[in-house]
Amino acid sequence: MNNLNFYLGQARKSHFAIGHFNFASEDVLKAIVAGAKEAGLGVGSLGGALARPGNSVAPCVMVGTSEGEADFVGIKEAVALVRAVADDMQFPVFLNADHFKSFEKCKMAIDAGYDSIIADGSKLPMADNIAFTKQVVDYARSVNPNISVEGELGYLKGSSEVQTKIEISPADYSKPEEVADFVAQTGVDRMAVVFGNIHGIVTGQEERLDIPHFASIVAAAPQPYYILHGASGLKDENIAAAIKAGITNVHFNTELRVAYHDKLKEEMTTMPNETTPYKYLAPAAEEVKKLVIAKTKLFMMK
Ligand SMILES: [Zn+2]
Repeated sequence: MNNLNFYLGQARKSHFAIGHFNFASEDVLKAIVAGAKEAGLGVGSLGGALARPGNSVAPCVMVGTSEGEADFVGIKEAVALVRAVADDMQFPVFLNADHFKSFEKCKMAIDAGYDSIIADGSKLPMADNIAFTKQVVDYARSVNPNISVEGELGYLKGSSEVQTKIEISPADYSKPEEVADFVAQTGVDRMAVVFGNIHGIVTGQEERLDIPHFASIVAAAPQPYYILHGASGLKDENIAAAIKAGITNVHFNTELRVAYHDKLKEEMTTMPNETTPYKYLAPAAEEVKKLVIAKTKLFMMK
């Protein structure tokens, strides 16, 4: 199987993005992989094939566990589940440690066999963030040469839930020359940067990306693959513009959580006596799958 950096290279060359979706249970994981695979069926070749210009077949999907989600699922369990589902569905799936904030946690994920790590030192002073990220990069590569490591610079506000208002100004954006310096000193494969994006959904304002600012970051540091975090709540055309400008991977979490939660709540209300988990959980997972199909089509659009 090709590694994640290979697929990110394909995405950069052909101007599409790989989807990244979070899970904390097996039903959601399976819904994500099925959705990513099915998104392109009927349009071009089969799901596992490499994307070709003009079709919307996703070549792979990334699934992530935050530290909290990893604690809930179990780090070893997450690795085993992802391998089983990828094998079962015959589709490449890469497991990402999403915003792991300490070397110890990153090491646990690397040792357990995660394909990808986000060493998130974005709340640390720059020098500490560089030292932490470099330590993770060096350790990850010593264990697994195929691993892909992401660093984060610039503090991404918000959390993966529905919020009213988050103040964001250009002063919060990642600075192009700092990104270049960070990449040179850490050797990361991927970068998460801030250019108007926030985590979660806000209801009291419109979220908008500053594409020209993002383009200035890419111009200053063209090496790494760029990742868009906090895509929930963004308009489709804003996401498409970011992909055109060089985003190769889009993180999408909160809207999935809301879709799963709302359908489950509805199910519990309309079928209050249904106690069989696979019966009352299935419609919620189906909502997740629908959303993954829609987003994957958007990410593959030319
Ligand atoms: Zn994120």
